[in-house]
Amino acid sequence: MLTPEEYRALLCERVPLLAAVDVPPVQSVGSTLAADAVSNVLLPGFDNSAMDGYAVRAADLPATLPVSLDIPAGDTRSLSLPAGSSARIMTGAPLPAGADAVVQVENVVVSGSSVQFPAAVPVGTAVRTAGSDVRPGDVVLTAGTRIAPTQLSALVSCGAPVLSVRRPARVAVVSTGDELREAGSDLLPGQLVDSNGPTIAALASAAGHEVTFVGRVGDTADEVRRVLTSVADRADAIITSGGVSAGAYEPLKLAFQDSGELDFYSVAMQPGKPQGFGILDGTPVFALPGNPVSVVVSFLVLVAPALRAMSGDLSPIRTVRVQAAAPWRRVDHRAQFARIRFTGDGRVEPAGGHGSHLIGGLAGADGLAIVPAGSPDIAVGDWVDVIGFPGR
Ligand code: AMP
Ligand code: MG
Repeated sequence: MLTPEEYRALLCERVPLLAAVDVPPVQSVGSTLAADAVSNVLLPGFDNSAMDGYAVRAADLPATLPVSLDIPAGDTRSLSLPAGSSARIMTGAPLPAGADAVVQVENVVVSGSSVQFPAAVPVGTAVRTAGSDVRPGDVVLTAGTRIAPTQLSALVSCGAPVLSVRRPARVAVVSTGDELREAGSDLLPGQLVDSNGPTIAALASAAGHEVTFVGRVGDTADEVRRVLTSVADRADAIITSGGVSAGAYEPLKLAFQDSGELDFYSVAMQPGKPQGFGILDGTPVFALPGNPVSVVVSFLVLVAPALRAMSGDLSPIRTVRVQAAAPWRRVDHRAQFARIRFTGDGRVEPAGGHGSHLIGGLAGADGLAIVPAGSPDIAVGDWVDVIGFPGR
């Protein structure tokens, strides 16, 4: 039996690395840098004013000075401040040569064409100095960083026309099970709605992947093999659900176990114990168990990090450490990924029940608390690490 950390490491190691492509910075969000992003420029690019106010020589103050220049943002003239005068200047406008401080408009008294500066100010006041943020050659973001919207202003400003990135993996989703029907179908006794397919597709899409929902396949080895082989060359990764546990009709096992293309594992986690993984015609296949809660846990804890690794992003799963507002029991000694809900005061309480089939309960949960293997039941006030559900 592998621990979840060991199994996740195995997946991250065995998945192939996607090819790097060059994209303009504006198209880079969600992709992972394949090389360090290095600035070609100074940021700020020129000395400029941090305030709407008056540019001065600090040594002249306090004084009443005439206004010799008016400098809006975007002014491209090459200006110098005549001695013994001030320049009206707007936020972000270039500082005229000779000026070394800006006094904000609220701190002066304007009378006609001159301005009274009642107090001395230090050199550099309200001036944003060229290069004080970023200098040419500075590494703005390192290789392996998945680019977030908040990082785009640096990337588009640092002067590189293209960035070398790996895009998020294109993911194909397949549900297995003779009992499954599409949502909205009339169900006969013994049939149920395929909820895993849409759920995995939505989770992958929320993680930034381009997703194809291939559909449902029945529980025969031949059909599973045929469908997975046919999608392997259209996707960077395949995620299946169902058919990997210990029953008599486990089509993933029947189709791929003997060929050695997929391996089947017991992972010491609850839920999500039976797992399968292998590389089919160069495409990694993540074969998840069928129970809907196991699917969500497996995706977030195991598959999502491995998909990120395909783009070169090896960052760990993000967790937040919070306190339990209510106790809960552990099921056994395995690592537990317990459904929780945030209480109004920033703590968590159990949500959704223990069974991995409880989709009604899952809907009321906000995330998973990680209870390490072998640790005792959770008491009020205990600290737990929580993985938030995307969109919650
Ligand atoms: P399996 O691992 O195939 O034995 O499936 C375990 C349980 O999950 C069974 O109760 C299945 O009916 C259920 N299940 C499997 N696949 C899905 C699916 N795509 N949507 C909803 N439930 C499923
Ligand atoms: Mg099944």
